[in-house]
Amino acid sequence: AAEQGIKWTKGVCRFCGTGCGLLVGTKNGKIVATKGDPDCEVNRGLTCMKGYYNSEIIYGKDRLTQPLMRRTNGKFDKNGKFEPVSWKEAFDELEKHWRKAYQELGPTGVGIFGSGQYTIPEGVAVVKLLKAGFRSNNIDPNARLCMASAVVGMYQTFGVDEPSACYHDLEITQNLVLWGNNPAEAHPVLWNRIVAAKRANPGYKIFNIQTHPTLSSRFADVDIIFKPNTDLAIANYILREIMHRGCYDKDFIEKHCIFATGPYDIGYGMRPTEKFAYPAERDTQAKQVKKVLSEDEAIAQRKAPGEAVEQKNAGGPAGNHWQITIEDFKKGVEPYTLEFVSRVAKGNPDESTSDFAKKLKMLADVYCDKANRVLSTGCMGTNQHQRGSWINEQLYAIHLLMGKQAKPGSSMFSLTGQPSACGTCREVGTFSHRLPSDMLVANPAHRAKAEKIWGLPEGTLNGQVGFDAMKMVRGLEDGSMRVLWTQVVNIFQSLPNATHWLKAARKPENFIVVADAYPTFSAKNAADLILPAAMIFEKWGAYGNGERRTNGWSQMVQAPGEAKSDVWMMLEFAKRFKVKECWCEQKLPGGKTLPNVLDKAKAMGIDPEASLYDVVFHNAFAKKVAWPDPLYKGVHCGTAEDLGDGWFPEKALYEEYWQFTQGAHQIAHFDEVVKGHGIVWPYINGKSISYRFNGMYDPFCNGADFLFYGPLMKAIPSGNLDAVTDKTPKPLPGKAKIFFRPYAEAVEVPDSHYDLWFDTGRFMEHWHTGSMTGRVAALHKALPEGMLYMNAADAKARGIADGDRIKITSRRATVFAKACIGGRMPVTRGITFAAFFDENVQMNQLCLDATCPLSLEPDYKKCAIRVEKA
Ligand code: SF4
Repeated sequence: AAEQGIKWTKGVCRFCGTGCGLLVGTKNGKIVATKGDPDCEVNRGLTCMKGYYNSEIIYGKDRLTQPLMRRTNGKFDKNGKFEPVSWKEAFDELEKHWRKAYQELGPTGVGIFGSGQYTIPEGVAVVKLLKAGFRSNNIDPNARLCMASAVVGMYQTFGVDEPSACYHDLEITQNLVLWGNNPAEAHPVLWNRIVAAKRANPGYKIFNIQTHPTLSSRFADVDIIFKPNTDLAIANYILREIMHRGCYDKDFIEKHCIFATGPYDIGYGMRPTEKFAYPAERDTQAKQVKKVLSEDEAIAQRKAPGEAVEQKNAGGPAGNHWQITIEDFKKGVEPYTLEFVSRVAKGNPDESTSDFAKKLKMLADVYCDKANRVLSTGCMGTNQHQRGSWINEQLYAIHLLMGKQAKPGSSMFSLTGQPSACGTCREVGTFSHRLPSDMLVANPAHRAKAEKIWGLPEGTLNGQVGFDAMKMVRGLEDGSMRVLWTQVVNIFQSLPNATHWLKAARKPENFIVVADAYPTFSAKNAADLILPAAMIFEKWGAYGNGERRTNGWSQMVQAPGEAKSDVWMMLEFAKRFKVKECWCEQKLPGGKTLPNVLDKAKAMGIDPEASLYDVVFHNAFAKKVAWPDPLYKGVHCGTAEDLGDGWFPEKALYEEYWQFTQGAHQIAHFDEVVKGHGIVWPYINGKSISYRFNGMYDPFCNGADFLFYGPLMKAIPSGNLDAVTDKTPKPLPGKAKIFFRPYAEAVEVPDSHYDLWFDTGRFMEHWHTGSMTGRVAALHKALPEGMLYMNAADAKARGIADGDRIKITSRRATVFAKACIGGRMPVTRGITFAAFFDENVQMNQLCLDATCPLSLEPDYKKCAIRVEKA
């Protein structure tokens, strides 16, 4: 009876990368309930508590319904108070600042900070607006803060950024090794599947490799607590054991792998000029590091065993790495003995070294068993890491050596944090170095392909990699970027060292736009202009989850007031700029220029007086698909039935992107993903391919038993993407790289002034900065405030009792919070933990903003703090 009058429509959960399907109940034009979609293979009808409350996130009392601008006496004033304005007034002001920065600084003077919660059509719209329209690669998502290291690890190892495994592996493996991830809190529905598989199979073992116990420890057979950053040393110990025991799969290695090292790689086009940067230089607090270390100095200063192999055994370039022999590799890992690693890596001061060593040996035994199935998972612990790319590469190396990658139940598998970090940021290419479908801005052949599909003159796209997430906020500080538009993200709460970057944003010359559904911390404190955004079921969309599964939904209700979708905002903004303003010669950093392509445009029949909207969006699509009139009908169209199977912007954007995926990712069509219950790509002749790179399953292997370089990379010799020409011979051997990566100590470690480690992460109840889940009464009540989780001995030594108010200080900030001793995060002595969902307790201010030098992803998992009773 309670369900009477409710219409159920298929949707997708917007919290976490698991990608659970939902059924969304609407009644009288409102969403009234959500429940798990029984036909979605991911969750089989289940949801976690966040999924269950998707229905309530839309109806917070303070939902934004009108643009708000800082004004005094009716005029924009950076120090004024927020006042409601019309969309026209909002865009007039934004246009003024955007045009000025664009004209004075060139395409890198403006930028958009996006999100792994972007829908796929939103990702396509932003990539087209910036990369094709404004010729700016300054678009980077918060996925840079969450999975960029996994991307680089995969790119460097396989030549493509495509996970080979699927969630089913979690159930059919015999040994699950969690490297720095806590699925019990962060991927609850997957954890449910894992626990069910373990209960059904008593032989199923879970190894939990963490810097402190977590909720996942409760089902772990072995908890390995390591000192922060020493996972690199543990991985090298496993690699050494594999070498010493001689259990590696010789045939597999000979056919499918090469050995490599090299301290940097520019092959994926991220930082062609910076090469190797010692992470300390990226910490704003480390300005005392007077000069940027040269590559050789950086190497020389690190003392870890095995380091020398990088120089001594450098046998010549293999792409952007140095190819080494298996003998070199053995020499590299040789110093990582059980004795050395158990001494260096033991993280629990209350555990004996011999007990820790026993656990390491048990882990090595599992990895060295030729016959078993092993699945290693990585997530934020492996990604938000000063050597995040390296630890990802090392875990692939373990699996490749044993011939246990891309096989059912055996792989290294990167779990995703956000609902469409894979589908939108990685696959569509909203990173500053990417183009759709694994392509790269730095690669001329890739740019040419994108220009062809998008109908742009040759040379339109900018080959210079744009500003990554941290470089954008540095740009606001150093004046190299002056307008930042954030979409579906709350960066001034979530960035490491957040207060520092908030100050940069508030510099008088900068103009900050925050598009969001609620007055987030960023909106209230950093924005000059707030744009009210439509939320998930108020627009059409699709997400792509961590196992390459695309799942779409239709618009079910209207957004409140004047709130608009991000697609609408971008299309509307594109109307205000003429082609001739953007496709003329443009200056780039480093004294380079982008050529004038207006003559070529004219030769193609493009009117330079036309708007970016007409040329980049409407004209390009009109050639292929019929657009409705008015264009915006699809954005604020009412219900799904009103549209039927007609075209509208989201569908057209998706379908144009679909063309990029043909012969590569091969995603399903928009109508199929909206109607279906999650479709895994590659999707060929109506059938999904579960395992990539494995010839038994993947037709892209072209008959080979394994092929690790995907179709786009097959034609690229030695991984050097810039070397591709039409004459490049093909096909090339599809080999994966097994990297030797030395252990390096963390940039900031506890000392006498800041004597505790600080780690951050998520709890099940809240999503990211809590701007949505914090407005759901039940979730807020379940976990109302951010606390610092401490070990009882550490608390006692400081005279702190459970629930006491404490003062937490790092080299970057001071935060006041409550202490929680033990609880569900029973941290080990010497380490503390906090989640970052509470805007009243800005925990990420404390974090170090050092990044992995390859992925440029910050490390949220380790820095040093001091804790006192307040
Ligand atoms: Fe949503 Fe993730 Fe929970 Fe599934 S596990 S219901 S995707 S938050």
